[in-house]
Amino acid sequence: AGTIRFEDVRFSYDPDRPILQGLSFEVPAGRTVAIVGPSGAGKSTISRLLYRFYDVTGGRITIDGQDVRAVTQASLREKIGMVPQDTVLFNDTIRYNIRYGRWEATDAEVEEAAKLAQIDGFIRMAPKGYETEVGERGLKLSGGEKQRVAIARTILKGPPILLLDEATSALDSHTEKEIQDALQLVSKNRTTLVIAHRLSTIVAADEIIVLDKGRIVERGTHAALLAAG
Ligand code: ADP
Ligand code: ADP
Repeated sequence: AGTIRFEDVRFSYDPDRPILQGLSFEVPAGRTVAIVGPSGAGKSTISRLLYRFYDVTGGRITIDGQDVRAVTQASLREKIGMVPQDTVLFNDTIRYNIRYGRWEATDAEVEEAAKLAQIDGFIRMAPKGYETEVGERGLKLSGGEKQRVAIARTILKGPPILLLDEATSALDSHTEKEIQDALQLVSKNRTTLVIAHRLSTIVAADEIIVLDKGRIVERGTHAALLAAG
């Protein structure tokens, strides 16, 4: 389950300025598709439409054949786990921040998710400025560590669809590589839509779509596009 389809999707923020001009693509269940393109191409708009911050002005977006406009916001957020560029953490323990993904989770499940995202060493800590009941010292988290918390949260939530919107673009290249490894682990067997600025930051995808000015200008396998430069 979890096939995403964009069918001739059109969108504009202002009526006289089209942003997406008839966009069609599919992310088959369990596969990974990446959208790359220059700044202003419309990449973030795609993720905003999928998450329904905005609605399409033409065409439609479906998940498993169902128009996203017919799905409640709550159930959409259950289906789609989003890892954004910058994760805002609650001023509470890392454990609490991970558990936010699914409140009913057991401690063992929270720890398992933390381990997969490789943030388990910090689980009793809290972001700096917050003192826990047990008196753990506040911890200044790096950008990469924050993304690991976001990833652990998503693992715990376990959505069928993953939306990675520039999830590593705020990180230095060494940290980016580490976080990409963690993201690849999470996206395995999960429908994943990756939004990225550069092709070089995509580790693995079944299809890459190159977007420019709201249109698809190129598409193909990862290997083919890398070979073409
Ligand atoms: P990308 O993610 O590829 O950089 P965006 O989807 O953010 O591109 O933006 C595509 C175009 O839409 C840009 O020209 C941008 O200025 C415009 N845009 C984005 N958000 C808004 C908005 N809220 N209102 C009006 N125009 C917007
Ligand atoms: P990103 O591609 O990461 O979304 P942008 O610079 O395109 O970054 O947008 C940053 C924020 O500003 C977004 O929330 C977007 O909705 C808004 N925005 C971008 N372009 C415009 C615009 N032309 N008019 C109004 N809001 C905009």
